[in-house]
Amino acid sequence: HVEHLKQQQALLVYKDKPSHTLDGHALTLRANVGNLSDISSLMLVGAEGIGLFRTEFLLMNAQALPDEDQQYKLYSDALQALNGQTFSIRTFDVGADKDIPCLQQHTEENPALGVRGIRYSLLNPKMFIVQTKAILRAACHGDIRLMFPMVSQIEELLQAFELIEQAKQQLVEQGKKFGSVKYGIVVETPAAVLSLESMLPYLDFVSIGSNDLTQYTLAADRTNLKLANLYPPLSPAVLRLIAMTIEKCHQAKVKVCLCGELASNANVLPLLMGLGLNELSINPASLLAVKARIVEGNFSAFYQHAQSVKQLITNAAIDEAIKSFNVSSK
Ligand code: PEP
Ligand code: MG
Repeated sequence: HVEHLKQQQALLVYKDKPSHTLDGHALTLRANVGNLSDISSLMLVGAEGIGLFRTEFLLMNAQALPDEDQQYKLYSDALQALNGQTFSIRTFDVGADKDIPCLQQHTEENPALGVRGIRYSLLNPKMFIVQTKAILRAACHGDIRLMFPMVSQIEELLQAFELIEQAKQQLVEQGKKFGSVKYGIVVETPAAVLSLESMLPYLDFVSIGSNDLTQYTLAADRTNLKLANLYPPLSPAVLRLIAMTIEKCHQAKVKVCLCGELASNANVLPLLMGLGLNELSINPASLLAVKARIVEGNFSAFYQHAQSVKQLITNAAIDEAIKSFNVSSK
């Protein structure tokens, strides 16, 4: 513990350094938050705003679903605390995979493949409209990016936009002011990657949810410890899907972020940055270690590393390549 504190202390020198490599390639580092009281810890590590706010955390201990005004206040206060920095809000990612007492939930045989993420919102449009109205109103006070979890088909995205039109309509009728937001999806199924071209024209940004993308690509329940060996941090199949997502986004000139646990691993940073990500969203506790890796590194080396890791065909070879790159370039 003392050792850890010492390391954190030493990393503080990176807090105010610009987030780019020695050869001048920039990467935006934002923070993942579940709880808005975490905002002060973002400032301590110099995060450029929030890259993922998991709004379902608002529901987990709640007696009842927060109403539009309550949510409006919450999102506006957070924006104020962020002082002009970007606030990326993910709409409720709920389903039978999470225990949320204030929602009427049915148990499912197969919750990971059931009604969760955007599917839940589309089946419960009232709740989605309340949330998006609150977010659109809060957007008068700052820079909000709105993202939808688990979108895997364009129909879901278009239905979500239709509901947002209804939300705006209601706001107009009620004489409530609202601002504009940027729209994105969390890419977390292979189907989303494979159909990204059709969705990109509607999107301002994309965020790769590598936790679920791994679970759905390898068909391995992310919570099942017996499958831990089938759920490596990075497998050839998942790496390919991440690389494809980045390429497609670049072609469409849409910014691409990664917000899964993978982004918090400083040893994986050279690979992720070398693949061309524009942004990472990270647990605040890991942010400075990742930033140190950026500031001390060269993008040209990261790019070469990514090109060679992309060719590898086993989990072990990828793991080995990441380890040896980090040893040789430290
Ligand atoms: C992910 O799936 O990678 C992700 C960021 O979302 P969550 O971990 O909340 O499912
Ligand atoms: Mg997810």
